[in-house]
Amino acid sequence: MTAFWTEADFDDHELVQVVRDAKSGLTAIIALHSTHLGPGAGGTRFWHYAEPADAMRDALRLSRGMSYKNAMAGLPMGGGKAVILADKDKTKTPEMLAAFADAVEALGGQYVTAEDVGISEADMAAVAQRTQHVSGLPVEGEDTAGGDPGPFTALGIFLGIKAAVQHKLGKDSVEGVHVALQGTGSVGGGVARLLARDGARLTLSDIHQDRAEALAAELGAETAAPDAIMSVACDVFSPNALGAILDEEGIARLDCQIVAGGANNQLRRPEHGPMLAERGILYAPDYVINAGGIISVTLEYLCRNDKAPCDINEVRKRIALIPGRLEQIWQESDRDGGSPDQVADRMAQELIGR
Ligand code: NAD
Repeated sequence: MTAFWTEADFDDHELVQVVRDAKSGLTAIIALHSTHLGPGAGGTRFWHYAEPADAMRDALRLSRGMSYKNAMAGLPMGGGKAVILADKDKTKTPEMLAAFADAVEALGGQYVTAEDVGISEADMAAVAQRTQHVSGLPVEGEDTAGGDPGPFTALGIFLGIKAAVQHKLGKDSVEGVHVALQGTGSVGGGVARLLARDGARLTLSDIHQDRAEALAAELGAETAAPDAIMSVACDVFSPNALGAILDEEGIARLDCQIVAGGANNQLRRPEHGPMLAERGILYAPDYVINAGGIISVTLEYLCRNDKAPCDINEVRKRIALIPGRLEQIWQESDRDGGSPDQVADRMAQELIGR
């Protein structure tokens, strides 16, 4: 009989905890992939899963992704993630959040949580009433690290796109470079604004078409239907909505030279990274280019515990290192023939002692 912890998505996770609180109706999973570099840090997702196994898979994969992301961002944090299994109506109560906070507190700082899909700043503020192992909280003053990570994620992606354009197209600026951007929410909207400011040509798409159209009107951009954005002829395709979009079908549709965007887990399976490379498309590994948010959230946490400066410039300084890290990955990939995602995985695994 195969032990369940040897199955696909288990990757020697240090701890996987199922939290049940009958009184509040909370069911959650907290997964700690690695604490080699520090406490496992990663947000809490509040989501309705068709099957509990899907929630387990999400927690396992996302927590491993956080180990890699934090290591590659040079943060003194390991990888963790929590998922709260919502009902169909996504009922969220203060009692559930309180029970969740108590579970985080019981781990004694091994796991540090923050916002993820379905969890707001206000939810985290409620969690912070019962545990100090939380970040992504509202901060006072514009010069203080912290708050909504979206704009910091967007900044890192913008800098990463510029690096990719330099590496692949040999251009010093994004002026006139055509970027097809999927998802115009917190991250995608921020990336689009930064690109427009520097003269890029943009085609925007969102399943909320009014959102894409409003932003396009503001930035003088074009729009494309959600099912057409991946086949727009462009220089850069920037995914900032869903994960797992890069599979056989998605990759075949691409008409670009670069894929660089903020969505987590863009590659459906490991073999899809080499597939992009075979098509001559330069890929910016997602967990490297989208680390701006976790850099902000982590420095906020460390600052609150007197372990890092609280100055927002420190956040910007660290985000400015993202392009160099990408360039290092691409150069190594050019040298040894591995695809950029494979090179990045190898670097991350080395950093976390695996
Ligand atoms: P968001 O909810 O603010 O925006 C996502 C947008 O994508 C929404 O406008 C939504 O309508 C749109 N969308 C969904 N499906 C789509 C589709 N099929 N085609 C086009 N548009 C679609 O979320 P966000 O915070 O901007 O996050 C975007 C992605 O970046 C997610 O994958 C998230 O995991 C990842 N990410 C976010 C952060 C952060 O700091 N917010 C950090 C790292 C990674």
